[in-house]
Amino acid sequence: MYYDYLIVGAGLSGSVFAHEMKKKGKKCLVIDKRPHIGGNVYTEERLNVCVHCYGAHIFHTSDKAVWDYISQFGEFNHYVNSPVAVYKDELYNLPFNMNTFSKLWGVKTPTQAKAKIEEERAAFSGGEPKNLEEQALSLVGKDIYEKLIKGYTEKQWGRSCRELPAFLIKRLPLRFTYDNNYFNDRYQGIPIGGYTEIVRKLLEGIDVETGISWQEFRQTRRDITYGSLFYTGMIDEYFDYKLGSLEYRSLRFETEELQEEENYQGNAVVNYTEREIPYTRIIEHKHFVFGTQKGTVITREYPAQWKKGDEPYYPVNDEKNEKLYEEYRELAKGEENVIFGGRLGQYRYYDMDKTIAAVLEIVKKQP
Ligand code: UDP
Repeated sequence: MYYDYLIVGAGLSGSVFAHEMKKKGKKCLVIDKRPHIGGNVYTEERLNVCVHCYGAHIFHTSDKAVWDYISQFGEFNHYVNSPVAVYKDELYNLPFNMNTFSKLWGVKTPTQAKAKIEEERAAFSGGEPKNLEEQALSLVGKDIYEKLIKGYTEKQWGRSCRELPAFLIKRLPLRFTYDNNYFNDRYQGIPIGGYTEIVRKLLEGIDVETGISWQEFRQTRRDITYGSLFYTGMIDEYFDYKLGSLEYRSLRFETEELQEEENYQGNAVVNYTEREIPYTRIIEHKHFVFGTQKGTVITREYPAQWKKGDEPYYPVNDEKNEKLYEEYRELAKGEENVIFGGRLGQYRYYDMDKTIAAVLEIVKKQP
């Protein structure tokens, strides 16, 4: 059996690539080690609620071409992400805006808020921020840093903010309006019916095999040959870690079905910014789609140290890892007919829109 392309990974990257190559008349086979398609955007129904099984995915973009692209495969609702942060039993609106400032300091006007932030920024001595803590202090000042950034960030990355690179929060938007929309993008929403449906449509008419890893496939499917490989797994794993292991952060999800509870927290996303609480956020899935059904499903998200065999969710794009990734990239250039794509193949902290845009660029270069 011959395929023009073997695609490893049935996530967003792999399925967009397969879809586009099929349109070009190429024969594709998509494989995935998980028992289902969709990668980390996979959603499934539980208690009649569409659950984001590998973390909340909120589609947002300012790229009209990408918005039009994804909208071909599903209709998006009008969900606007407005997370609430909990710190020591007080609730604050995110992103940092007039609602947040008013709750923190009792200020009413943008002028008052700006004056207070100036005062708070005095905690930073000046100069070029050398780490994330200094970066945050210089941008938003001590109070916001300590209540809303420090604990959350240290939990998420598993390191002290003094040991984290400044660039992770180069842009911490401060908004001097009463606007709780987390994103600044022109387009935003959640697909009605879930992301899995979108991926299913992308993969329509394409051969797909789930529940088989790339390693197993190579060993057991020698009858299948292919012209090129589109690989969306971890680039260092592809090369058997021969230059060393890149670092990732992992996550552990604890999902609870609450049959008797209709509304657990009143919002889709609630962040817990204290260091002492081991999870970073609780997602209440029904609120992504304005659900009114009886019962609700919630997921606590615990950041976790990644080790080989765990699910890698985030690349750790600090200097050390970037350098190693560049070496792998050099190695990858020598691999004939192999393309690396997606968050893991390109070691990039891509949002969904950037993932799609990156694949569409790759597609343009394919015959
Ligand atoms: N962040 C924070 N407090 C919050 C939410 C986010 O300090 O309540 C910072 C933190 O440094 C984190 C970054 O913003 O690493 C990105 O967080 P977000 O939750 O937006 O990332 P996601 O996991 O959704 O990609």
